[in-house]
Amino acid sequence: MTDASAASDVPANLAAVKAAIAQAAAADGRDGGAVTLVAVSKTHPPEVVRAAIAAGQRRFGENRVQEAETKWPPLKAAYPDLRLHLIGPLQRNKVRRAIRLFDVIEVVDTVRLAATIAEAMAETGERPDLLIQVNTGEEPQKSGVAPLDADGLIRTCIEDFALPVRGLMCIPPIGEEPALHFALLREIARRNGLEELSMGMSDDYPVAIRFGATMVRVGSAIFGPRPAAGG
Ligand SMILES: *Cc1c(COP(=O)(O)O)cnc(C)c1O
Repeated sequence: MTDASAASDVPANLAAVKAAIAQAAAADGRDGGAVTLVAVSKTHPPEVVRAAIAAGQRRFGENRVQEAETKWPPLKAAYPDLRLHLIGPLQRNKVRRAIRLFDVIEVVDTVRLAATIAEAMAETGERPDLLIQVNTGEEPQKSGVAPLDADGLIRTCIEDFALPVRGLMCIPPIGEEPALHFALLREIARRNGLEELSMGMSDDYPVAIRFGATMVRVGSAIFGPRPAAGG
């Protein structure tokens, strides 16, 4: 698929995703507006992003600080109500750049990273919302705090560092029933009194919403397939 055809499909794709969100939310006894759609635009060029903005989308997700820095500053200047989520791993040496650009950082998963973020927030005054990423499948190659260590990390972030932790995020293992992972994330959030649950991607966001997702991160269902190397 060329970028041009991807851009032309975006408005219809967005409408279809929003309809599916409303339907799943209704099945969970919620309004569609209770679920925030984060349009994952990683690897897609600004023209494609602009098609989504023209269709009214205002919240986007990127997984690389550097890519976001080349794409988003002009768009954010033109549309001050845009909100950007970081959904890919954050290296400590990029924290300062990340908190300048992103409105929500969904990938806090270690005390060391949390400490660096706290320090950078104190120095810059920038305070994006934070989510703790939980590695619900305990996959060794995947980011996220282990489920058994999540309560401790959440407490450290809130009590020791006074960080604006709003909720949790997870990426279930490929090929497993995602519902079990969504239920686990919801339980960790419940017992820690956290409200936001970022879970659900193109293949499983209706399921995630039935398990209480307040944010879904949807890429290919809106923007079409990504080049293979884009992750
Ligand atoms: C790429 C990505 C998504 C979106 O995936 P799709 O399957 O294209 O919807 C969601 N969350 C994270 C963390 C991602 O890296």
